[in-house]
Amino acid sequence: MAERTLSIIKPDAVARNLIGEILRCFEVAGLKIVAARLVRLSLEQARAFYAVHKDRPFYGSLTEYMSSGPILVSVLEGEGAIQKNREIMGATDPAQAAPATIRRRWGTDVEKNAVHGSDAPETAAWEIAFFFKPDEIQSAHK
Ligand code: UDP
Ligand code: MG
Repeated sequence: MAERTLSIIKPDAVARNLIGEILRCFEVAGLKIVAARLVRLSLEQARAFYAVHKDRPFYGSLTEYMSSGPILVSVLEGEGAIQKNREIMGATDPAQAAPATIRRRWGTDVEKNAVHGSDAPETAAWEIAFFFKPDEIQSAHK
């Protein structure tokens, strides 16, 4: 069964005109973009989205950064989409990410690492619903 995951192109990557190149990586890997929208999060919205990290030392800086400019939110669909997207993204710290991954190619540092991707089916469902209504997502287009 095809799986869905939430992707975010973060403010640093949007500002550097990398939307097209990053979406291309998903398409080349066989993931379908079944929803997409450019949004600007308020600080409160960024704090809600990253609430799972509220006790981490980087929470304040991360949520300020994620609300600092427009982001491109999208839903990616395909076989094993969650894990596939995590592999295409690379490790959280761009310096540790494998060659040719998005974070290695375009990440700036461990915070400004170009992209977000859901890490499990439960978080994917919650994160997709955070940004998209069901009728804003197109079912598997060929
Ligand atoms: N982050 C950070 N410092 C850290 C770890 C994470 O600023 O030491 C930021 C980074 O932007 C990361 C986000 O917090 O993408 C969420 O962290 P997580 O551990 O969930 O990493 P991810 O799932 O994004 O790889
Ligand atoms: Mg994470």
